Amino acid sequence: MLARRDPHGLWPLFAAFALSGGLSFYALALARANHSPVALWLANGVLIGWLVQKPLAQTWPVLVAAFLGFLVAKLSLGDSIAQTMLIGPFHTLETVIVSESIRRRFPQITQDTRFIDLARTGMIGALIGSVLCALGLMCILHLWTQVGVLMALNTQFRAHFVGMVIAGSASLVLTHHLRRVLSGKAWALVRDLGVLVAVTAGVCMEPRVPLVFLVYLPLLWVVYRHRFTGMVFGMVIIALGVSLATTLDVGPFNLVVGATPAFRIVMGQVFIGVTCFVALPVALVLSEQDRMRKQMQESELRYRMLADHSGDLVMRIRPNGDRMYVSPSVKELLGWEVEDFQKPRPDLIHPDDRERIAAEVVKLRMEGGTTNATYRLRHKDGHYLWIEAFARLVPSPDDDGTMDIIYTGRDVTERVLIEHALMESQGQLRTVTDNIPAVIARIDMNERYTYVNRYVEQVSGEIPVEIIGKTVREIRGNALYERLKPYLYRAYDGESVMFEYAAEYRGRPLHFQCHYVPDRDTRGKVRGVYALTTEITHIKNAERELLRLAHQDMLTGLANRRYFSERVPNFLMQAQQGNAIILLALVDIDNFKAINDTYGHAVGDVVLTEVGQCLQKLVREGEIVARLGGDEFVVLCNDITSLKQAKAFVQSLWERLHITIDAGVAQVTVNMSVGAAICRNELSDDALMKLADDALYKAKEAGRDTYRFLTHGLGNGGGDDGGNHGSPEIKLRQAR
Ligand code: GH3
Ligand code: MG
Repeated sequence: MLARRDPHGLWPLFAAFALSGGLSFYALALARANHSPVALWLANGVLIGWLVQKPLAQTWPVLVAAFLGFLVAKLSLGDSIAQTMLIGPFHTLETVIVSESIRRRFPQITQDTRFIDLARTGMIGALIGSVLCALGLMCILHLWTQVGVLMALNTQFRAHFVGMVIAGSASLVLTHHLRRVLSGKAWALVRDLGVLVAVTAGVCMEPRVPLVFLVYLPLLWVVYRHRFTGMVFGMVIIALGVSLATTLDVGPFNLVVGATPAFRIVMGQVFIGVTCFVALPVALVLSEQDRMRKQMQESELRYRMLADHSGDLVMRIRPNGDRMYVSPSVKELLGWEVEDFQKPRPDLIHPDDRERIAAEVVKLRMEGGTTNATYRLRHKDGHYLWIEAFARLVPSPDDDGTMDIIYTGRDVTERVLIEHALMESQGQLRTVTDNIPAVIARIDMNERYTYVNRYVEQVSGEIPVEIIGKTVREIRGNALYERLKPYLYRAYDGESVMFEYAAEYRGRPLHFQCHYVPDRDTRGKVRGVYALTTEITHIKNAERELLRLAHQDMLTGLANRRYFSERVPNFLMQAQQGNAIILLALVDIDNFKAINDTYGHAVGDVVLTEVGQCLQKLVREGEIVARLGGDEFVVLCNDITSLKQAKAFVQSLWERLHITIDAGVAQVTVNMSVGAAICRNELSDDALMKLADDALYKAKEAGRDTYRFLTHGLGNGGGDDGGNHGSPEIKLRQAR
């Protein structure tokens, strides 16, 4: 099945079978030759290199092959099949724990893998795996061979843990770096390992003096020269040499007087373990240093490439101002050669910017961190460019404890000139808007002021900065906001609206005309509202004055004919709605021409004024009195409830108008003729006037100084026309 799946996949299986079987046989045979429980157990660790490459689901055949190898080794040494079948799974468990813990953390082991992390993970995995395996083996061996519990646990754990570290590391290095190792310094490695082999052999064969520590010298040399690879091969050589020599009753540990064979094996294992834990950190630290140096070189190369090809000016500046690096872009940007720029060139900075930039540099050198500045640098042609520079203080890569400035600068001349032009035009615009006699504001879609010109100070005493950011409701108050809100929302909907409103500021009632214009973005979407508010109190006052003048008779101060004509229709409508009786009385001074002729026009004026004032006093709230022209006045009432009351009012009016006026030069007694129209609701204003005129005519015709009234549309009682609309009955009364 496996062969069908992958024809090349059989070689790893043979290798796993052979290695596991061979190393198991070696360890078991060695231990038994010496009557020791176990020797260095390398068989499980050799599989790690393969197993970490793929998930367990794909690599289980390798484990099966290794298990079979172990089985064959055990059986060939005469062990029982039952014991072997019980021990085998614990070996597999140890192998799986270590390989899976590495594979899950490092799914892909490459040159960039952090070896210190890898070693830490492998060590923890090996520790857990070895403890579990040793516990399992301890139980089985204790039951089967009556070996002491602690003795079994101790020897099994040491043999497995040290063996796993050595064989696991070797397996990882061989499977992942073999090609690189062989292609690189292969001969140097062989030569250095040869020295180690010679020293190890010498130490192991020395019959008198225990010189085992001498192996450290060539081992550390191999580690220093070949890093992790050197450490792995070196440890394999020392482990094999020392364990073989100890088992064969030669070597440094056999020189210890009185030591049992088992104790010599323990000493050998401890020595191998200690050697491994001396060499491993050195190898890891050196490998990590190599990796970081390489990364640094690569990043420096990348940075250098970026700086060399950047359009920006890049420099590294030493504390004395010397530029250790100037990017070639200086030529394109400023016309200067790199060499021209390698010494400090303050002369190239615009005189107006020199002091500011020098201060920035001093500040950066003192406080560290970063700074940026926009300033002018002189082009080789003589003109100035605006440069936006960014500088950072960093430890010098020269590693002499000093700090360098890394500077990047780019040409922003175009942007700066546009900004200046914009600022200038904004300044002009602001001057204009601040001096326009109107409040100009912008309100965003959240009803917040984003701009208000300074004229607002003159109108309401508010300061623009205190308004900006606040809502219309906050600034204008609830009541005024509720009045402004409908117009604001119409403007938000895209409508341009104009309206007037009154508000009180600093105790003064003011009138405003307001224009809300939608502020749209480039796509036409409303993004706010411009509000142009003009104070129109003076216009309103002038308008009111004009209206007053247009409606007032200048001589008497009464309302004039125009006002009267404008008010009558509304007045009649109200009367109609209230079903009230309407009374319109025309009052005309008798023989006024004669007064003029006798006493003069000025006396005539005094008479007119006095009559006007008298009339004003006779009317009540809501009634209208006006001078229609010449010596003719009118009184209009709509609160009469009966004809009788109307007649009484006319009579009273006529009687009270008999006044004597002191005109200075003469006492003038005036008589009046009054013609009144009384109706309920059906007459138009013209018809009503005509009726009153007719009544006045009748009064004059009757010899003057009397009153007459004509009724229309009233019942019979009290002398109405009894429904004869065409010919109203004339009531004639002699006044005196
Ligand atoms: P009658 O009794 O029929 O009303 O006779 P009368 O003299 O009063 O005649 P009438 O009402 O027609 O005359 C009005 C006069 O009022 C004519 C004009 O000279 C005079 N008059 C008009 N306006 C003024 C004014 O403003 N001041 C003065 N002093 N006289 C005015
Ligand atoms: Mg008159």
